[in-house]
Amino acid sequence: MTDPDPRLAQLDANLAAVRRRIDAAVTAAGRDAAPPRLIVVTKFHPAQDIRRLASLGVADVGENRDQEAAEKAVQLEDLGLRWHFIGQLQSNKAKSVVKYAHAVHSVDRPALAAALAKAMAVETDRTGRPPLECFIQVNLDDGAGAHRGGAAPDEVLGLAEQLAGAAGLRLAGVMAVAPLGGDPAGAFGKLAGISAQLAAQFPAATGISAGMSQDLEEAVRCGATHLRIGSDILGPRPALR
Ligand SMILES: *Cc1c(COP(=O)(O)O)cnc(C)c1O
Repeated sequence: MTDPDPRLAQLDANLAAVRRRIDAAVTAAGRDAAPPRLIVVTKFHPAQDIRRLASLGVADVGENRDQEAAEKAVQLEDLGLRWHFIGQLQSNKAKSVVKYAHAVHSVDRPALAAALAKAMAVETDRTGRPPLECFIQVNLDDGAGAHRGGAAPDEVLGLAEQLAGAAGLRLAGVMAVAPLGGDPAGAFGKLAGISAQLAAQFPAATGISAGMSQDLEEAVRCGATHLRIGSDILGPRPALR
């Protein structure tokens, strides 16, 4: 019997390989808490691929541009997926993002936190939706490399207080992208330290969103609770537009 959908078979194989890597990393790290949640980053890939992934058991997807994410979320509403917004976000997009996002992983400044709180106040009244999970994105770059977004480590607690005090928002934890060309283990170790400081003051904020295709093993070793994996599951992204 020939496979009627070669792309589905490819996604299935890639997903299985990534899940095996995660399992192996969890075992190697001797972790016995809940395994990390896999968020499949589908940016630039068509909605039909997300439909295929959902049929393979994927429940969490990540997107980094509001317009693209909003369109896909409407087209795929029947799937009941959790949408994770993982990209740099302008405050004026907050109103749109809270219409579909379960979580925002890239809260990096007070103005954005305020805009999300305001948008959620309206959205909660309108739909009764659950609180928006908010991760504080931390910049782990010491200055030499390219800036990949995020609050400075010493801004995290102030931002956490703001998020924890906003009805409609839930402070979930921290998020980071390893610096380009840097050592991911060192960066994620630093993130784990920042996470521990945060959780000391906000005991529910234990989330650590870290780890991409290239560095998921290091992230799991450092305690990541949410992995954001794109290209090792979907293949290379079409060129940046
Ligand atoms: C694109 C992206 C990812 C996924 O990266 P891959 O290398 O394709 O796995 C994860 N996190 C963020 C913030 C991204 O922008």
